[in-house]
Amino acid sequence: MPQSDKAYDVVIIGGGPAGLAAALYTARDRYSTLILEKNGLPGGQIMLTEHVENYPGYQKISGFDLVEQMKAQVLSFGAEIAISQAAGGITRRDDGMLEIDVNKGERTCVARSVIVSPGSDYRNLGIPGETEMRQATRVSYCATCDGAFYRDKHVLVIGGGNTAAEDTVYLAARFTDKITMIHRRTEFRAAKVLVEELYTAADEHNIDIKLPYVPVAIVPTDDGKDIDHVKIRNVETDAVEEIKVDGVFIFAGMNPNTAWLKGVLEIDDGGYIYADPLTMKTSMPGVFAAGDCRRQAAMQLATATADGVVAAMQLREYFRDPSTWTVGLPDQSGRGW
Ligand SMILES: Cc1cc2nc3c(=O)[nH]c(=O)nc-3n(C[C@H](O)[C@H](O)[C@H](O)COP(=O)(O)OP(=O)(O)OC[C@H]3O[C@@H](n4cnc5c(N)ncnc54)[C@H](O)[C@@H]3O)c2cc1C
Repeated sequence: MPQSDKAYDVVIIGGGPAGLAAALYTARDRYSTLILEKNGLPGGQIMLTEHVENYPGYQKISGFDLVEQMKAQVLSFGAEIAISQAAGGITRRDDGMLEIDVNKGERTCVARSVIVSPGSDYRNLGIPGETEMRQATRVSYCATCDGAFYRDKHVLVIGGGNTAAEDTVYLAARFTDKITMIHRRTEFRAAKVLVEELYTAADEHNIDIKLPYVPVAIVPTDDGKDIDHVKIRNVETDAVEEIKVDGVFIFAGMNPNTAWLKGVLEIDDGGYIYADPLTMKTSMPGVFAAGDCRRQAAMQLATATADGVVAAMQLREYFRDPSTWTVGLPDQSGRGW
């Protein structure tokens, strides 16, 4: 539990890869550092996977083992990690310090600066079998992360937006033997150019597009290790079909964990925080944002940790001269950051 009477140099909100990387740098720079993590364990989303193959330095490592090493490294430099501590707001006090509300008024933390790294959660469909098969690593929400595990396999893709269209082409061109793709409407939501690319790729790479279909259930094999089949329903006829696949990719969007920051920081319509990509500075002086919560984030481990490092290094500059905080606001039309 954080010491309530202690003012930290930096409080980091969220103990995922972005927050842990930021803490490594700030603690090593001898700034007093506290990570607030709302869950019972730090680590964030990467804890949900057994197989990481694209984090430099590790040919293959589980998310849990990677986080254990990140955590040990951070603690070795003196950072504190407080678990089960959910930040709920940031305000500036009259003396210029930042005050963070924790666990809905249970306590407050005080800091000279804050790095916000609460991540984004993949939207689940909530259908039977989804959670079990995600734990068995047969359901994925990220083609870049998990595509390589489906070389020459048959996968089901669920979704109709830009990510679904783009990532289906990516999976089909690089890895899979066959893709069945379903979307609940008769037309895709994705941009026209992406839909055209998808239909071109469908001819070349064995993609079977079925519209309008919704998933009903992901049925595991008896031992619970694999998918036996997925039930899908034709929205127009109500007919239910069973398809045999090795994996399921769900592209239903993401929810940034930033609802509590509305009115505090500049946030876009999707809930992502506007942060200058060169400095991670937000609209509130002294507050940086890092990782998947940030607009235009690449949503990868390596980029989340990179964001944390940039924020930590910019924090030095801020402490040197707080009056230098300048953030050019982005183009509100959606272009730029
Ligand atoms: C199943 C799965 C597999 C993946 N595989 C890969 C892969 O192989 N390679 C890859 O590069 N990327 C992969 N990713 C993506 C990668 O995990 C993310 O890009 C990365 O974790 C983002 O880090 P982050 O620190 O920004 O956010 P997160 O990892 O989401 O961490 C945010 C942390 O903040 C905490 N938090 C949220 N709100 C609050 C609050 N109000 N107060 C306190 N704490 C809060 C959360 O509990 C969480 O621990 C995968 C993701 C998933 C889900």
